[in-house]
Amino acid sequence: MPLKNTSLLDNMIGVGDMVLLEPLSEDSFLENLKNRFDHNEIYTYIGSVVISMNPYRSLPIYTPDKVEEYRNRNFYELSPHIYALADEAYRSLRDQDKDQCILITGESGAGKTEASKLVMSYVAAVCGKGQEVNKVKEQLLQSNPVLEAFGNAKTVRNDNSSRFGKYMDIEFDFKGDPLGGVISNYLLEKSRVVKQPRGERNFHIFYQLLSGASDDTLKKLKLHRDFSKYNYLSLDSAVVNGLDDAANFRTVRNAMQIVGFMEDEVQSVLELVAAVLKLGNIEFKPESRCNGTDESRIKDKNGGLMDEKQETKSLFLMKVSSVLERAFSYRTVEAKMEKVSTTLNVAQAYYARDALAKNLYSRLFSWLVTRINESIKVSNMLIIFHLLLLPQDNSFEQFIINYCNEKLQQIFIELTLREEQEEYVREGIEWTNIEYFNNAIICDLIENNQNGILAMLDEECLRPGTVTDETFLDKLNTVCAEHQHFESRLSKNSKFLTDHSLPHSCFRIQHYAGKVLYRVEGFVDKNNDLLYRDLSQAMYKANHSLIKQLFPEGNPAKVNLKRPPTAGFQFRASVGTLMRNLQTKNPNYIRCIKPNDKKASHIFTESLVRHQVRYLGLMENVRVRRAGYAFRQAYEPCLERYKMLCKRTWPHWRGPAREGVEVLMADLQVPAEEFSYGRSKIFIRNPRTLFFLEERRRQ
Ligand code: ATP
Ligand code: MG
Repeated sequence: MPLKNTSLLDNMIGVGDMVLLEPLSEDSFLENLKNRFDHNEIYTYIGSVVISMNPYRSLPIYTPDKVEEYRNRNFYELSPHIYALADEAYRSLRDQDKDQCILITGESGAGKTEASKLVMSYVAAVCGKGQEVNKVKEQLLQSNPVLEAFGNAKTVRNDNSSRFGKYMDIEFDFKGDPLGGVISNYLLEKSRVVKQPRGERNFHIFYQLLSGASDDTLKKLKLHRDFSKYNYLSLDSAVVNGLDDAANFRTVRNAMQIVGFMEDEVQSVLELVAAVLKLGNIEFKPESRCNGTDESRIKDKNGGLMDEKQETKSLFLMKVSSVLERAFSYRTVEAKMEKVSTTLNVAQAYYARDALAKNLYSRLFSWLVTRINESIKVSNMLIIFHLLLLPQDNSFEQFIINYCNEKLQQIFIELTLREEQEEYVREGIEWTNIEYFNNAIICDLIENNQNGILAMLDEECLRPGTVTDETFLDKLNTVCAEHQHFESRLSKNSKFLTDHSLPHSCFRIQHYAGKVLYRVEGFVDKNNDLLYRDLSQAMYKANHSLIKQLFPEGNPAKVNLKRPPTAGFQFRASVGTLMRNLQTKNPNYIRCIKPNDKKASHIFTESLVRHQVRYLGLMENVRVRRAGYAFRQAYEPCLERYKMLCKRTWPHWRGPAREGVEVLMADLQVPAEEFSYGRSKIFIRNPRTLFFLEERRRQ
């Protein structure tokens, strides 16, 4: 095959690969990013890692022509592009049968979801054709709008922010045609269902349903079109510029159909969405009891389960209305084989209502994912992993997301090093050890089974007696102090801190990306993630098969089920599975960066980008990549590119390419310590040598 004489090095704005940056510093790194960004070059490599800068406008770089251009080309042959990575991953999978995973990380609004869609559409474009294959492709692609409707929301940072973590395995057959996929989700931000921060919305589906459903559908669901009728829908930003909820509703309905939902399933799903909205409208009033305490009662008013007309009374929860009503007034506590009924006050009733709405919605979401998987099932080949970072809002959710980031960073460095090392071994090049920042100590601090923070939180949650966020913090303090005494890992390098220098009720962790202060408020409650059993039982009694299915623990036959695992425990388990999965695959990385906080094109805010470069550990990545040799190239393309620099190799070299390159390097008098000859590639230690060669070419 004739080698086309184009390269990553041609027409280069700045450097296309950060590994070639000279001199290397955080400043030069940022300057290079900015320079390229200003010239519409949004992709830059660090070796095989793709950095993607969000352009916040559509660039003409995703056309079918572009797909053709990158198809079957070597990674470094063309200028950096996400397609190059997608192509590389897809071809290694098809031709070498190596399982691939693609990890996409970055903060909210950085472009992860868009990147994952670009990868999927590239793969869909280059893989096989045919009716069956096309159907699978279509289903895989159409799972996106469904998941986005239920799992995305408008936030301050991103009008289409994914509020759940996701990864997706796509399986291909031996010819490289997609057979199907499996989506896994974790950690839906369910608190959003009942309350949204200022300037943000609830999940898209609520607005889509109210704006896009026909009058007839809304009538059947007994919903008003008006957002303002619903307590769970914030009003200050219900309408988002450029977001057509009504049109999106039709897209979602259509996508659900393509993915394989039956009409009655779609109907059930919408009924649940409606039920959540109505739950939010239930209000409570206190009713005095003879012993002087107040007991909560549902207010009879418009909206909610107790609608203005008797016929709408409790709608889908028809058969359970009285059971549910009771569950909002009393709670059964089991103590020593005895069932005791305690009353709920108004605040507790609201708490129960919101807990039910959150559970209903998040279980619906998990059900949707499972249901989509049934349609597109098969497993494990290409994973597209998707992570949301929630900076600043330092509560329980952020704590576990940062834990996941910490694990990802750990495996990222580990795998990058392993990849380097393996290449050296393959090529017969001597390996020298590389010093790098190992964050195992921080991971251990969080996940250790005995005295890791998550284990301590679990222990606290399961302990009988009064448990509060403060008692949890006390526990952290005690364990921390004990370990300080023994000079344990908790105090060593002070990765963990709780003392009087911090604001009240806080602890601090020194993550690889920087220090983060966490507020303990809500830790115990969120970790417990408890739904009063009376509510699960009420749901189980619902005359609605989907609702029943979502609350299996409400089955009276199963009342003695053990306590469900805590949120932290579940998350730790799913991070563990994910990591084991990643270990067995060949990783590909896309690191997304957002250039500014304004969702605007053409603006590059240096401080913001710098923060992300640190957060993503990119400098560390460059260092590891060029610790030994900054650049490597197979002998054939190397000779092809530089043969013009030497009379003996120009215009034709008749012998093996490696010998040609040897002749060339000798002729150019490149010092011997600057490069090594591997089995199939030349390894160049310093980018300067490469630039010297490039310079000579241009003369
Ligand atoms: P979150 O963590 O909140 O889900 P995200 O990283 O998934 O954020 P996206 O939703 O992918 O962010 O991107 C935010 C917006 O940025 C998109 O809606 C789109 O307008 C724009 N955008 C992202 N990537 C690109 C791109 N490659 N080309 C054009 N616009 C883009
Ligand atoms: Mg997203």
